Amino acid sequence: MSHDLPLAPEPISTQALRGLALRCPKCGQGRLFRAYLKPVESCASCGETYGHIRADDGPAWLTILVVGHIVISLVLTFEPQLDWPEWASMLAWSGLSLAMILALLPSAKGLFITLIWRSKGPGSERET
Ligand SMILES: [Zn+2]
Repeated sequence: MSHDLPLAPEPISTQALRGLALRCPKCGQGRLFRAYLKPVESCASCGETYGHIRADDGPAWLTILVVGHIVISLVLTFEPQLDWPEWASMLAWSGLSLAMILALLPSAKGLFITLIWRSKGPGSERET
């Protein structure tokens, strides 16, 4: 594909999936994060800049929303049938919640960075 031709705008679903997969939403090749939740300054593959985008509390809100619904559903379904001591239940369900939160938080942040980048929002703490 020649780079001289104008590229058709990509669907938001494609870009959102790239963000969820922790990839650059523009090209899908470069990594979006240089550490667990630290976005790269710019994509190593296409050069698109992301370092100025601040997702703030959005990723935490989305993660809790998703994990809360899943874990509460599991607790309400299985807890009445389990004959565990209370301490074991509390440890198991909070451990599951914590593991899911840590696993999903980067993808939630990738999604928010993608949406802020796509909407061309300044998303910046530097511009004031
Ligand atoms: Zn890229």
